[in-house]
Amino acid sequence: MFLMAGKQKTIARQAQMKGRGLHSGQDIVINLYPAPPDGGFIFRRSDLSGHPEIKGNPENVVNTARATTLGEGEVKISTVEHLLAASFAAGIDNLLVEVQGPEIPIMDGSARPFYDIIQEAGRQEQPGDRRVWKIDAPLLLQEDNQTVLALPGEGLRITSVFFGRPPVGNQLLDRTDDWVDILKARTFGWMQDVEKLRSMGLIQGGSLDCAVVFDEDGPRNELRFPHEPVAHKILDLLGDLALFGPVHGHIIALGAGHYLHNLLARKLWELAGKEMF
Ligand SMILES: [Zn+2]
Repeated sequence: MFLMAGKQKTIARQAQMKGRGLHSGQDIVINLYPAPPDGGFIFRRSDLSGHPEIKGNPENVVNTARATTLGEGEVKISTVEHLLAASFAAGIDNLLVEVQGPEIPIMDGSARPFYDIIQEAGRQEQPGDRRVWKIDAPLLLQEDNQTVLALPGEGLRITSVFFGRPPVGNQLLDRTDDWVDILKARTFGWMQDVEKLRSMGLIQGGSLDCAVVFDEDGPRNELRFPHEPVAHKILDLLGDLALFGPVHGHIIALGAGHYLHNLLARKLWELAGKEMF
């Protein structure tokens, strides 16, 4: 069921940032604009003729391999999840994201640069009521070795368990309504996968400036805090859930990735009658 929780918000002023696309290696400019109430997140490809737009809702996720890709018809924008996580943490409900390329730039691999630019742009309250979906019955989703359990609860609590290959090992993090510090957790990978992904034409813009890379001895670059990988998993879940909207409940994610996050967002969207954005 829906709860009313104050007014919707968008950003107060336009903001611009520039960075490299992780997969394409291209320099990409994004512009963030205020958006009207009840519009949610809209993504626009300003590099394509006609400037086509994609509505940010769970059903428009067309790929969840290594990142979340939105698409409508031939138009796609990938790696939307870190910008969405930052917007969610900043309490933004409506936002127009104009991208001059096929993916949101990776920046430093975390959501923090997006949060900082939203803070700089400021927030503006809007006339529409902010509706929060309250989970009122348990929901269990499983796929391969991944599990998501969503339970009723006060506020939004996320318990995430990440089953990492050595030397990362298993990590657990539990958070309630407190996301800002985990936004600086970077995406991560393993050295042995880097060459394989490069040969597939992926991560052309990847470097130790935009990811934590582990080899058998440990991280190749310094961690920002212990358990950075599982903190990044929570960040990814927030971003994927933001395509649905604000939620109250306790979400327990065990080894879950973008596919299962999106499945949860789709289920919630169905339960809500596809009314959230
Ligand atoms: Zn991520």
